[in-house]
Amino acid sequence: MKHFPKIWMNGRYVKFEDAKIHVLTHSLHYGNAIFEGMRCYNTEKGPAVFRLREHLSRLFNSAKSYCMKIPYSKEELRKATLDLMRVNNVKECYIRPILFYGHGHLGIEPAGLKVNVAIIPIFWGRYFGEKIEKGVRAKISSWCRINPLIVPTQAKCAGNYANSLLAKMEALDAGYDEAILQNISGYIAEGPGENIFIVRQGKLITPPVHAGILVGITRDSIMRIARDMGIETIIRDIPREELYIADEAFFTGTAAEMTPIIEVDDRVIGDGRRGPITHKLQSKFFDVLRGKDEKYYEWLEFIR
Ligand code: PMP
Repeated sequence: MKHFPKIWMNGRYVKFEDAKIHVLTHSLHYGNAIFEGMRCYNTEKGPAVFRLREHLSRLFNSAKSYCMKIPYSKEELRKATLDLMRVNNVKECYIRPILFYGHGHLGIEPAGLKVNVAIIPIFWGRYFGEKIEKGVRAKISSWCRINPLIVPTQAKCAGNYANSLLAKMEALDAGYDEAILQNISGYIAEGPGENIFIVRQGKLITPPVHAGILVGITRDSIMRIARDMGIETIIRDIPREELYIADEAFFTGTAAEMTPIIEVDDRVIGDGRRGPITHKLQSKFFDVLRGKDEKYYEWLEFIR
């Protein structure tokens, strides 16, 4: 795996090869690591981390749900992230901050264990390769999305991804590109690592927080860009069948960016190609990420 030379770990820059943890790490056993996923893009004004503050706020909120005390302030982690980009001479990358309990005892409650913090830059190109333009084929999963009665679904907690990866593996094994999970009420929730939108009669529709989604920062960005372009977003429950008859559909997420969905359960969406509203929003979104629209500069944290 191609990698950047340095990882930030507990306040120090550690060589990639040396960024190791003990096999008794509590969070490895009980899935209680808290993480984020963000991206640094090379813009016309140099590299910039997209919506760093919002990602760090979500990291702190995720930790709060689990009563995990982060031994750094948001500002310290913001500076550490930007410095890490400089130290590694990054132009573009995916960034994975992660908080996890160390080792000491194997009781389920993490009392007394150290909270470790790492920030890892990762080479990660297009999540769906060239399908970012062509679109992906998705399948409704036989797995339901985790429910807020069971775990905090708004927290980016490692354990939640057991649900995601089962859905993803099932979809890939069945020959699809991605899964779509319904919640236990039978409404559409999201993909394993993406939020979902459909387009009907010129309007965007996306599931609400109570559907059990992770409240995506890309979801928020797309809704704001859409509003600025005069495209309304309706936040409401979406039944499965509505995906089939949508004019267009797409996923949003930091890894997947904005990816058209051209098929769901072997039903062709629209004319089976990236739809016009998806295309328009996607072009604008990529312009914003690349710093081509000053209106959205507040979302870019330039690293130098
Ligand atoms: N849902 C899940 C389950 C995710 O893991 C992600 C990726 N963080 C998203 C949605 C999209 O969130 P964001 O746009 O903030 O990356």
